[in-house]
Amino acid sequence: MSFFKVLYPVACLAALSRCRCLYGQSCWPSDAHFALLESQISQPLIYPVPPASACYTEGPSSSNCSDFLANTFDGRWRSDQAGSMQSVNWETHIFDNGTIDACYSNTALGFPCEQGSIPNIAVDVRSIEDIQAAVKFASSHNLRLVVKNTGHDYLGRSTARGSFLIWTHHLKNITYHETFVPAGAGPSTSHSNVITLGAGVQWYEAYDAVEAHGRILVGGLSARASVGADGGWISGGGHSALSPSHGLGVDNALQFTIVVADGRHITANAHSHPNLFWALRGGGGGTFGVITSVTYQTHPSLPLVGAFFSGNFTSPEIAKGVITEFVRIQPSLAETGWGGYSFFDNSSLNAFYIALNTSWEAANVTWLPFFEFARNASTDSPGPQTLTVPFDSFFSWYQALFSGGQQVGTNVYLGSRLIPTDLVKSDHEKVVKALLAIDGVTSWHAIAGGEVSRSNPSSAGINPAWRKAISHVVVSEGWGEGAPAAVIDAAKQRLTSKVKKLEALVPGAGAYFNEAFPFEANPQRTFFGPHYPRLRLIKLQYDPKGLFVVANGVGSEEWDPSLNCRR
Ligand SMILES: Cc1cc2nc3c(=O)[nH]c(=O)nc-3n(C[C@H](O)[C@H](O)[C@H](O)COP(=O)(O)OP(=O)(O)OC[C@H]3O[C@@H](n4cnc5c(N)ncnc54)[C@H](O)[C@@H]3O)c2cc1C
Repeated sequence: MSFFKVLYPVACLAALSRCRCLYGQSCWPSDAHFALLESQISQPLIYPVPPASACYTEGPSSSNCSDFLANTFDGRWRSDQAGSMQSVNWETHIFDNGTIDACYSNTALGFPCEQGSIPNIAVDVRSIEDIQAAVKFASSHNLRLVVKNTGHDYLGRSTARGSFLIWTHHLKNITYHETFVPAGAGPSTSHSNVITLGAGVQWYEAYDAVEAHGRILVGGLSARASVGADGGWISGGGHSALSPSHGLGVDNALQFTIVVADGRHITANAHSHPNLFWALRGGGGGTFGVITSVTYQTHPSLPLVGAFFSGNFTSPEIAKGVITEFVRIQPSLAETGWGGYSFFDNSSLNAFYIALNTSWEAANVTWLPFFEFARNASTDSPGPQTLTVPFDSFFSWYQALFSGGQQVGTNVYLGSRLIPTDLVKSDHEKVVKALLAIDGVTSWHAIAGGEVSRSNPSSAGINPAWRKAISHVVVSEGWGEGAPAAVIDAAKQRLTSKVKKLEALVPGAGAYFNEAFPFEANPQRTFFGPHYPRLRLIKLQYDPKGLFVVANGVGSEEWDPSLNCRR
């Protein structure tokens, strides 16, 4: 049971007020302190463990080992585990000397099961009061506090070694409002068909809830829709294949409720705490407080058409020709509400897109010329597979594509950039040439343009670069379980070089906070652009002592890379 034997240096860093107090240090609260906290909350405290610990006979079981092995790549199962991250590299801890503290699923590797970067004690919150008690406790004991919902964060922001965790997963309240007046607004400011989602609601639950009312939501799309609706997704911006027709998540949020650093539970909307409302829409998760609910505008459920393309090409020249044509048509696709995802490299292109409220005939007018172009360019037989299919609703399409599948449970770093529409319009060939020069598959997320670009860039805290973008392009690097630090560092170096190539293509264009390179050279500029100074002031207003700090988040530049000590 080696993960409970973690000892930090005897010289307790937390004695210095510039550092947080971590588990194992003499400043860590005593059993009596935790007992007092436990008397103020509705649930017993919990002690998160690595999910794989179930397979180590000497360690405590988080569940049985076969359950873990059957579900380790399932996003919903992982979100049910307090100690799990969806990208498992964030469960591990790499020391400066290259030693890795981890609990691998492959017990045959011969490493002991260690706690890694998983928090040691957590409050499994079920009420506002639970959150308030936990926030006050973390603040008064100067603890390294993390807030976790589903653990999907690609930069590991919802976990930290030696930390104290607020876990929001079980806050599952859902309320549908036929009419809704934001707190502090006059009765004339009424919205219809609105839904309020508790902090632990995941997109699959939200989609089910609005389907019952004949409505749809702009939400995350992942295997089994396990991303959270209220935490990191909305705070970072929140994109969807529906974004070209209905905007980003931040464009659909009407109201937040949130516990801030001094323990107050406040309502933020256009009429009450409008600055905070602005910051919560793009200023990043885990930064301004613990969101307890988000109220979203829903939209009518309409028929849609899906378009699918899958092509393998016999030469890089053919691939380049087809992908160049594909990128050329992106601005007109977004303008007519088409959104989706594509993946390409020097030998293949795969894409799936949707457009709401369009006829099958109109969809064919849009797509058949491209399908024909690709077929003519391909020398192999029968050429690319292409399809347009009508669906009776977004819900049917989402169920067909996302109700199963596995997308998580691996080691991965991402890198990304927002690609400006103007660049694609003026020189799409340059864009394709640069992207194909990057090793590996490029993911072209067609989730911008259209309605995203019609919102006022200063209407929300999100980087205004989003309003000029046509797509969010993602590259990645992964590695195998048990790889030594040198292998992980090599992956990081390869990704650094890929991100440099993206930056050279679109200098200063910015990147999506949630699906991004953890080691960005200038995170404030890259993730927030010209909105950073205002976000920083709002952060100081609501969290003057920096209780909430996350990697590359607003105010994080004041902290060292571990985020445990002020610089
Ligand atoms: C498989 C997969 C698919 C994805 N698909 C999409 C997609 O379709 N669209 C998209 O835009 N993004 C997508 N993402 C990225 C996603 O938006 C981010 O990973 C996001 O951070 C997840 O938020 P979460 O709350 O679910 O996860 P967590 O990891 O639990 O939290 C993420 C961040 O939010 C903070 N946070 C969590 N809850 C709260 C709260 N209640 N109050 C304040 N802060 C909180 C955490 O501290 C952390 O900083 C995907 C990610 C994955 C792994």
